[in-house]
Amino acid sequence: MHDVLIIGGGPGGVTAGIFAVRRGLSALILDDPNSLSQTEEATEVDDWPGTKRIKGIELVKKMREHAKSAGVEYLDKKAVDITKKNGGFKVKTDKGEYEGKTLVFATGAKHRKIMVKGEDKYAGKGVSYCASCDGPLYKGKKVLVIGGGDSAVTAALMLDSIGADTTLVHRRDELRAVKSLEKKVKDSGVKFLWSTILKEIKGNNKVEKAVLQDVKKKKKFEEEVDGIFIEIGTVPLAELAKNIGVELDDAGFIKVNREQETNVKKVYAVGDCCDNPTKKIASAVGDGAVVADTIFANLSE
Ligand code: NAP
Repeated sequence: MHDVLIIGGGPGGVTAGIFAVRRGLSALILDDPNSLSQTEEATEVDDWPGTKRIKGIELVKKMREHAKSAGVEYLDKKAVDITKKNGGFKVKTDKGEYEGKTLVFATGAKHRKIMVKGEDKYAGKGVSYCASCDGPLYKGKKVLVIGGGDSAVTAALMLDSIGADTTLVHRRDELRAVKSLEKKVKDSGVKFLWSTILKEIKGNNKVEKAVLQDVKKKKKFEEEVDGIFIEIGTVPLAELAKNIGVELDDAGFIKVNREQETNVKKVYAVGDCCDNPTKKIASAVGDGAVVADTIFANLSE
C-alpha cells in the first residue's frame, strides 16, 4: 500500500508526488494515457517561471521525468473505480488495482466545448481554448473570443494587448464578467458582437471563417477570421471523487480547504479540479507542494 495514491499526472499531481517523496513517503501516480491534461494541450506555455516559451506537452514530460527520477512511481493507467479498504483506498484501473493510505485527486478540468461543426476539426489549427498559450501566434491577425465571463474577457484583453484584432462574441447583451474587467474591456480596443452565437467554423487546412447568428434578429452571417478562442468555462473531472462522498461546489469542482483537504478524511485534491479561483500551472504546482506537507502531518499524527 502506497502512502500517497495520486490520480492524475498533470502539474499538480506530479508535484504532489515529488514533494511526498521528499517527505519520505511512497507515492504512486495513476495517469490516464488517453486523456491529455490542459497543460499538455497548450500549444505554448509562457507563464511558467524559468522557461520563457515551452510547448505544454514538453513541460509536462519534463515534470514527469523529474518525478520518476525522484522516486515517484508513475503508471499509465486510467482509474475507473475507488473503494475504501483497510483504512485506506483501493483504486481499480483499466489494468489492475492499487492501494493507498491517502488519496489525492489531481484530475484537472476540461475546457467546455461549444459543440459546433468544425470545432474538433480545427482544434490546434485556429481553434484554441487558451489565449495565454496561443495568443502570441495571432499578433496582427483577426480573432474572435467566444464567451462573456471572466475567462473570455481576460482572454480578449490579452489578445488585444498582444496586437490581435479582437472581437468578443457573447450570446447575451451583457457580460457575466466582474465589473472591473467589464470596464477594462470596454475601454480597450476589443470590439463586441452582442447577442450572437457561433454556429459553425469553416476553413481548409486552418480556420478561415466563423458562421455566426444574431439571436435577436435571427440572422446568420459569416466573418473571416484567423483564430477562434472558445472561453465558455471549464468542466471539472470530479466524478470519481463524488462517488466516494467528496463534496463538490455548484459548478462541480472539489471543495478543498487551504491545506487541500476535502470533507472526506485522507482524501485531498489539487489543481484545476478544485474550487480555487486561480486555474494556472503555477497554482496547481503550489497545491501539490501544500498537499504533501498536509499528508505528511496527517500521517504522522
Ligand atoms: P463562467 O463564469 O462560467 O462564464 C462562462 C461564459 O461563457 C458565460 O458568459 C456564458 O454565457 C458563456 N457560455 C457558456 N456556455 C456557452 C455556450 N454553449 N455558448 C456560448 N456561450 C456560452 O466561466 P469562466 O469565465 O471560465 O470563469 C470561471 C471561473 O473562473 C469564475 O469563477 C471566474 O470568476 C474565474 N476566473 C477569474 C478570472 C480573473 O479573475 N481574472 C479569470 C478567469 C476566470 P452566459 O453569461 O449567458 O451564461
